[in-house]
Amino acid sequence: MKIAFIGLGNMGAPMARNLAAAGHDVTGFDTAAPMPDGVAAADSAAAAATGAEVVVTMLPDGAILRAVADEVIPAMTPGAILLDCSTVDVDSARAVAAQASDAGLLALDAPVSGGVGGADAGTLTFMVGGPEDAYLTAKPLFEIMGQKAVHCGPSGNGQAAKICNNMILGVTMIATCEAFALADKLGLDRQAMFDVVSTSSGQSWSMNTYCPAPGVGPRSPADNGYRPGFAAELMLKDLRLSQQAAASVDADTPMGVRARDLYAQFVEAEDGRGKDFSAMLPRFEKRPRG
Ligand code: NAD
Repeated sequence: MKIAFIGLGNMGAPMARNLAAAGHDVTGFDTAAPMPDGVAAADSAAAAATGAEVVVTMLPDGAILRAVADEVIPAMTPGAILLDCSTVDVDSARAVAAQASDAGLLALDAPVSGGVGGADAGTLTFMVGGPEDAYLTAKPLFEIMGQKAVHCGPSGNGQAAKICNNMILGVTMIATCEAFALADKLGLDRQAMFDVVSTSSGQSWSMNTYCPAPGVGPRSPADNGYRPGFAAELMLKDLRLSQQAAASVDADTPMGVRARDLYAQFVEAEDGRGKDFSAMLPRFEKRPRG
């Protein structure tokens, strides 16, 4: 398949490399990043998109996605698919999909879970919104870049699934970290805490798979000085998107609000920037009851 790949940063580069390694004809464009192995360089996003059957975008935010969409949509061949894998606000995803549809294109929003490690290993999970026929055409590409794709419904529903998932993740990570800090002060050994909670009703992905306590549970960023992993500022981005979406549909999400505010404080007023989002545990350890 002839594929254009726009946005070859931490996530896009390994995803594009995996598509090329699987035998696809991949042309890339990025305003700053170098081309990964096997990807031909184009001079502009529009040049990369010309003649492509699928144009994949993996960009920082909704404003940049809208700007890139303005450039590539007029260059794309009718019937081609615009496949956005970035995490953006639901409104931008739906606006870009409508713009693509008006131009005779098919659009999918397909944000991912799995991080840089998953992008590298080709084990991402894709949450996909958009027309069924486009989803079925793109499915072989999801199978190369990931291990699971879920079709979540019409345009924007992939982003809706992503921000709901990450709102749960932010909330459970904070709850897990504050519980460890409380357990410490109560004199409960961290290994005992993990052994109980990971097999009891307090279990979650944050505890069982990504334990924020160093030396406890499976290997995680806590065992590597809290180097990300999934950076606290990316969690803050997703929590802000979840609250933007909640406001737009008048949904009551008090735990999501609290998680957003705590990550904002951690990243913007404390020392959280550049650390993994599980570094909430050393943050709570240091703090008196607030
Ligand atoms: P990144 O900043 O490493 O990569 C983004 C790339 O887009 C950069 O190389 C940048 O130069 C390029 N870019 C910016 N504007 C451009 C333009 N106008 N035209 C072409 N290229 C442009 O970010 P990332 O970590 O690869 O994340 C990409 C997306 O994936 C984000 O939406 C992020 O929220 C999401 N995401 C990231 C992770 C993660 O762990 N890093 C996990 C899941 C989802």
